[in-house]
Amino acid sequence: MRFATERALAARVTALGESADPTAFAELAEATHSPSALVRRLAASALGKLAGVVASAPAVAALLPLLGDPHPQVRQYTAKALGAFGTAAQCALPDLRALYANPAEKDYVKRSVVAAGTLIREAMRIAEAQAVHTCRRCGVRISPDEYARSQQAFERDFCDKCFDEVYLERRNMDTKIELNKTITTRGGTLVQSDGERIIAEFLDAHGIAYRYDERIRIIEGFAIRPDFYLPEFDVYIEYWGMDTTDYKIGMLKKKKLYQQEGKRLVSFYFSEKPRLRELLRQKLARYVRLDAT
Ligand SMILES: [Zn+2]
Repeated sequence: MRFATERALAARVTALGESADPTAFAELAEATHSPSALVRRLAASALGKLAGVVASAPAVAALLPLLGDPHPQVRQYTAKALGAFGTAAQCALPDLRALYANPAEKDYVKRSVVAAGTLIREAMRIAEAQAVHTCRRCGVRISPDEYARSQQAFERDFCDKCFDEVYLERRNMDTKIELNKTITTRGGTLVQSDGERIIAEFLDAHGIAYRYDERIRIIEGFAIRPDFYLPEFDVYIEYWGMDTTDYKIGMLKKKKLYQQEGKRLVSFYFSEKPRLRELLRQKLARYVRLDAT
């Protein structure tokens, strides 16, 4: 492959990896067959970055053959990418084990294999653990959806019935709960609070790509759903929209995880809502290039 062609293809594949675009999959799957090892490695890496954006099963299927790639760096980045797919990549565990057991395999590939295997097994453990969660109020076994709903709102496990009761109790206590899952931003994103709407519209207005509340990342055994993730800048934004004690405990736990993992987190608080636009500009300026508008 000509050098210029390879460079152009490499740049294209890298950009697709940062695009947060689900339709990028077809082109990346194609790139995993490139004659250039550089392009194959970047394609593997890009697919990993789109975990949670593209459909998992086809992405894992596209990655699997690259674990047998003749180039060690392709194997290294493929293992890493598979880790990002969590439970969907459990079919890769036998191949990862085989790579690890191969005495001729490079150490850096093995490190990547161990990290991926750990992530995948941890995700499986969490998926299994979630299936047996019970309501902390009435003890009934809760569904994954109830789990997700109550964890999202309270960082606690409640069945739907108790969720509604707790929700009302708290509102009656006049706590500042901002929970409304039906707010639509001007850009069409469905958010759950007015603060999040302001953040989403600010990002849209500045042409900053973001993913809203969709990608579960496994950090230290906890499933973390960041409010906003800015792929171009590798920055996370959390809007801490409630002011209750329980909520604050969850918030501190989550913040600590971000810190341990060296993630760039920008936090906004309920009390800051009146000045949110100004604060967005100030706090994001540290990581994000904002135009003058
Ligand atoms: Zn209950």
